[in-house]
Amino acid sequence: MAEQIATNITWHEGAVTAAERHKSLGQTGATIWMTGLPASGKSTIAVALEQVLVQRSRCAYRLDGDNVRHGLNKNLGFSAEDRAENIRRIGEVAKLFADAGLITITSFISPYRADRDQVRKLHADADLPFLEVFVDCPLDVAEQRDPKGLYKKARAGEIKGFTGIDDPYEPPLHPELTLRTDQLSVAQSVQSVLDLLQQRGLLSAT
Ligand code: ADP
Repeated sequence: MAEQIATNITWHEGAVTAAERHKSLGQTGATIWMTGLPASGKSTIAVALEQVLVQRSRCAYRLDGDNVRHGLNKNLGFSAEDRAENIRRIGEVAKLFADAGLITITSFISPYRADRDQVRKLHADADLPFLEVFVDCPLDVAEQRDPKGLYKKARAGEIKGFTGIDDPYEPPLHPELTLRTDQLSVAQSVQSVLDLLQQRGLLSAT
């Protein structure tokens, strides 16, 4: 948990509730949190899912691990501390977006359970839907895919602290959904997330 540093600050309440904001948008904000090994398929599924949602006139937005490290989190590396701060910031951004009414799809390895659970709590405390999606495939399949050549570099010792090789990945214990991407096509994974959103009433107009 990040420490509160500033003092003399007071929360300033708005005149509209999240529910009123969501009603004006015609949808309920929510966070779809994809977690999994590098190359498990998080970004690929997130891109396809965002496209389908926008085609269905849902306001969706993708927060991608590497993209966010180009900007908001450019000052963070891959130590356990920086990974935690990376997820804390994205969790806060996703929560703000959900509060604003967006369906946010995040694709971050987010390897540590405690960090993800913090984000879940952040959403629960604000009464905002949080759906943890475990994008799962065996390490050897992810390593064979290796679209960015990073596993190869990690095996060669050129990258230290690479998740799955010499840094741990802690799978979710109770994800809302698990996608076995070695068994499902991208389209099937997208459909599974859509089915979940439908079940939770997050696809229909508010
Ligand atoms: P991550 O975001 O988890 O690091 P990426 O989406 O960047 O993973 O990379 C996954 C790679 O695996 C992509 O090159 C993608 O085309 C490929 N791939 C092959 N089969 C699948 C599948 N069924 N689901 C998702 N990705 C798949």
